Amino acid sequence: MSPSRTHITDVLVLGAGLAGERTAIEAAARGLEVVILSLVPPRRSHSTVAQGGLQAALGNSVMSHGDSPDIHFADTVRGADWGCDQHVVRLFVNTAPAAVRQMARWGVPWSRITAGERRLPDLSVVEEPEAGAGLINARKFGGTTKWRTCYAADGTGHALQYALDGMVLSMGITVHDRTEAIALIHDGKKCLGAVARCLRTGDFRAYLAKATVIATGGCGRLYSLSTNSVINEGTGLSLALDTGLTCLGNMEAVQFHPKTLPPTWIPVSEGGGGYLLDRNLDYFMPYYQPKNNEQPYRDVTARRMQERIRAGLGVESPHGPHLWLDVRHLGADHIERHLRSLAAFCRDFAGIDPARELIPVRPVQHYIMGGVRTNIDGAAYGLKGLFAVGEAACWDLHGFNRLGGNSLAETIVAGTVVGKKVAEFALGEALHYSSALVAEHLAAQEDRVRRLIAGNNGGENVYALKKQMGRILTEHVGIFRNGSGLKTAVAALGELHQRARRVGLVSSGRGAVPELGAALRLPGMVRLALCIACGALARTESRGSHFREDHPNRDDVNWLCRTLAYWPPGAEMPELKYEPVQITELNPGKRATPA
Ligand SMILES: Cc1cc2nc3c(=O)[nH]c(=O)nc-3n(C[C@H](O)[C@H](O)[C@H](O)COP(=O)(O)OP(=O)(O)OC[C@H]3O[C@@H](n4cnc5c(N)ncnc54)[C@H](O)[C@@H]3O)c2cc1C
Repeated sequence: MSPSRTHITDVLVLGAGLAGERTAIEAAARGLEVVILSLVPPRRSHSTVAQGGLQAALGNSVMSHGDSPDIHFADTVRGADWGCDQHVVRLFVNTAPAAVRQMARWGVPWSRITAGERRLPDLSVVEEPEAGAGLINARKFGGTTKWRTCYAADGTGHALQYALDGMVLSMGITVHDRTEAIALIHDGKKCLGAVARCLRTGDFRAYLAKATVIATGGCGRLYSLSTNSVINEGTGLSLALDTGLTCLGNMEAVQFHPKTLPPTWIPVSEGGGGYLLDRNLDYFMPYYQPKNNEQPYRDVTARRMQERIRAGLGVESPHGPHLWLDVRHLGADHIERHLRSLAAFCRDFAGIDPARELIPVRPVQHYIMGGVRTNIDGAAYGLKGLFAVGEAACWDLHGFNRLGGNSLAETIVAGTVVGKKVAEFALGEALHYSSALVAEHLAAQEDRVRRLIAGNNGGENVYALKKQMGRILTEHVGIFRNGSGLKTAVAALGELHQRARRVGLVSSGRGAVPELGAALRLPGMVRLALCIACGALARTESRGSHFREDHPNRDDVNWLCRTLAYWPPGAEMPELKYEPVQITELNPGKRATPA
């Protein structure tokens, strides 16, 4: 390790995905100096893989006519099973259309409407009037009342990330990629920045800032089966949790994507035009969902599929049981033209031609609604100067089930809103820090690394423990949960937490060694897993994606509240607190599937 360096800036953003870059741009536009840290080059962030699109009530296309932020609001709140913050939802739905148009000005090639006949995923045909020609198009996605998912062909996240990264470059915002934040620097009241580790050299750096923003994305990789990128390990969340001062919201609210392709678990979205079949080739969704067979809320579809598998009607495979997705009736032409990426995934990763063969699909972990709990301005609870945005945050737009397409929209909307608040905060703040405090934080992290390299902790293997954690979550904290399974998970994860502190490296640990990074991350990841499992055990109701077989009903009397998980210093388990959910416009009611 060479002597650590200190960087001083106005705003420090941890994460260069859509949320981080959008926030950084907003702060830099107000004349602030901004530094972004990222594990990977920004254009390799997880956001880049999102294909489905982004929800905003533009009302341009014929299937979107009559749409409005009010309808988007109702879809989002119902989708969330009333677990969201309705102030936040209102702000979000009202801001989303302008955010989409702004992205067009920054170069996103949104797919546009062409006048004339349009063939829908169910093969029916509608007429797009001349008046709409050239406007931003929308497609069916996310089970919404009106079609409002804007898209840039099959590369929406890609196009958005490239456009934002272009802005970041042109504004001269500093990006330090292959740099991992490993701890927050704070004085017990205020966040002063982060300690980071250079993934190329292993050197330490202190980044000091007036405002620090956690934009590190989701933590799907806690689970053994997930659609998430390998970098989605939730370190930003554990940084916040480990301060003992701020908290995570609704960590038990985990979304499972219904249709993913084994064994890569890539989501295969066909816009609702396909049929889900079981091992007997029985088209089963109409038994449960007669009105809108394949497009109920994601948590509902995932449960129906899992029920079918549990009833022994799944197809056995080396990657576990799966069901089938049938798109053959759509025809080769429709598939090649409109479901190009589905066709490519099937061909390239499973050797399947979807125009002629059935596609194996299975639900796996996809999105985390929980995250660093913030207020509507994106400010984290309990630690001044700390903000969070995007999937890493619990702003709380999504409650207990995120609508497909609302998460990309959240990154650019929340990035704009929170970026402004971060800037306001930083402009009114002077950076006061004590060198001793910074040295203390650096020394603590250097000591962790030194002990690992010296082999002082023990002989546990980091990858074996990580695998075990993933399996425990997938088995006991998945789509169906119950008290005894969750107790088993909490006990097993508690034991893993102890073992995670006794990791010994197989490698030397020096230089750019992935094993050292994994060993530094693991204890925090297990703490996150415990927050998920303990939150799920305590919540004795079923809401959105949190389904308790032993408490199958939603309980608005006792559980119309948000879980706040704290980790007091030295604790073995999280401390759970609760706060009420804000209901401003739409009272809890029946969660009817959109027509
Ligand atoms: C396969 C897939 C498809 C999806 N499709 C859609 C879709 O069609 N529509 C939709 O709305 N949503 C979709 N989602 C969800 C959506 O893509 C994500 O929620 C969203 O992109 C998250 O953006 P983000 O900026 O919060 O985080 P990310 O894009 O995950 O970025 C996180 C950033 O943080 C950095 N980072 C992480 N830890 C650290 C650390 N410790 N130090 C420094 N940097 C760090 C990473 O390098 C990265 O730059 C999809 C998700 C998946 C998995």
